[in-house]
Amino acid sequence: MANPLHDALFAPLANSDAPFLHLADGTTVTRDAFLQSAAQMANALGAAGVTPGDRVAVHVQKSPEALALYAACIMAGVVFLPLNTAYTPSELDYFVGDSGAALFVCDPGEVEAMTPIAKAHGCTLLTLGADGQGTFADAASEQTGTFTAVDRGEGDLAAFLYTSGTTGRSKGAMLTQGNLLSNARSLIEAWRFTSDDVLLHALPIFHAHGLFVASNVSLLAGGSMIFLPKFDTDTVIEMLPKATAMMGVPTFYTRLLDDERFTRDLTAHMRVFISGSAPLLAETHERFEARTGHRILERYGMTETSMNTSNPYDGERRAGTVGFPLPGVDIRVCDPETGAEVPAGEIGVLHVRGPNVFRGYWQMPEKTREELLPDGFFITGDLARVDEDGYVHIVGRGKDLIISGGYNIYPKEIEVFLDDQPGVLESAVIGAPHPDFGESVVAVLVPEAGATVDLEEIEATARRELAGFKRPRRFEVMDALPRNTMGKVQKNELRTTFADVFQSAAG
Ligand code: ATP
Ligand code: MG
Repeated sequence: MANPLHDALFAPLANSDAPFLHLADGTTVTRDAFLQSAAQMANALGAAGVTPGDRVAVHVQKSPEALALYAACIMAGVVFLPLNTAYTPSELDYFVGDSGAALFVCDPGEVEAMTPIAKAHGCTLLTLGADGQGTFADAASEQTGTFTAVDRGEGDLAAFLYTSGTTGRSKGAMLTQGNLLSNARSLIEAWRFTSDDVLLHALPIFHAHGLFVASNVSLLAGGSMIFLPKFDTDTVIEMLPKATAMMGVPTFYTRLLDDERFTRDLTAHMRVFISGSAPLLAETHERFEARTGHRILERYGMTETSMNTSNPYDGERRAGTVGFPLPGVDIRVCDPETGAEVPAGEIGVLHVRGPNVFRGYWQMPEKTREELLPDGFFITGDLARVDEDGYVHIVGRGKDLIISGGYNIYPKEIEVFLDDQPGVLESAVIGAPHPDFGESVVAVLVPEAGATVDLEEIEATARRELAGFKRPRRFEVMDALPRNTMGKVQKNELRTTFADVFQSAAG
């Protein structure tokens, strides 16, 4: 009898009566109490008719109970399917229907809006969090706090997450127990997590970053977490003295840098700051190091594979790179057209292989066949280059590649140039349809606070430093780039906004 993921993440430990979750209001939850509530929920899942292998769609705010529900699903051999809290009812209707969930769990305040969705797709609706109306939480509280984990193997599905939808409609990625376990193990090794670590966790748990990286790593290491419902600068600054490690998206770090209370003294005790989900600007790296003396450790991953690469814990953390493949992960860089490996140092699409690579996309057998190759490599869709020292540089997404007059243009190269220009905080480069060139380059610039950007000067510098075909033919200024909750720039939105800029122009 075994359930490897459960046995690794949710086993009682010698310190199970010590605080495991530190909450924003100053209260704590012990691992014992957490496991007991997870066991009650696992019993309640059974009482609700959910059986091993079923999918449980979960659309709830982040809380200790939400994490306990994840544990309950693993215990009960049920597939945990968290949904982005920002999804609207019509988006939820699609995801609940597409996933074929047996049970849909929502917050008490959402019952009215969610009932038609559950009805339309024939699944049971329960709330997480007591509302005194015979809810899931009430049902769970009547259950015993012991549960014998259901037998599972490493090849059985543990979680089902939709991708962020940055490049198109979100795809359902099926992850096995073995995927999650191997990933958590290699991250602990790479980042030296131990049971002494207190992880500041302000990420959502509906995404691979907050669930597979932050939560699983801390759970497997047997450490504790400062478990915050969302990133809020005041709370993070208040709680930081208790933490040893923090994981975040780049926006967390820029927000901290914008606050003068975020000082070297406040961070002196910290062991490590880790960043991922979106590229960390070299400028953020430098400002962070200058302010705190810490060099952020940047890593790279995706829903389908969890983490692929990381900068080294010891050794140079190289800005603008995502480091080296994690233990057990193989990578190669291939021509997007032919699939053949490109010569060392050249740009191509990144393929990854390893125990972290998912089982496939839900109900998309063709897409799965196209992207999960027979030799075990997965085509990430990200464009990358490996430098002479073996550091991986993510230079953009395959779908962002701009083809102008037959030339391939990598937006990241132009963004790096633009980010360096006076007064520019950040930039996004996209292609817009062009009558002569097919596509041409549009640069969207965000000025630094209080600064104005001199477009003529930037254009003049671009003329000197960038090949003609790479030069932006149009500059747009915005107050902020459109981003999703994980800090990813929504280029599709920019492409729609600026779709017509060249329609009447020739140049
Ligand atoms: P979709 O696949 O639906 O278009 P998505 O790829 O944004 O959305 P996720 O799986 O959440 O969905 O994100 C993974 C992607 O995030 C990676 O493929 C990569 O493009 C980007 N990413 C993650 N970490 C980094 C990083 N450190 N640097 C650059 N890009 C990163
Ligand atoms: Mg993706």
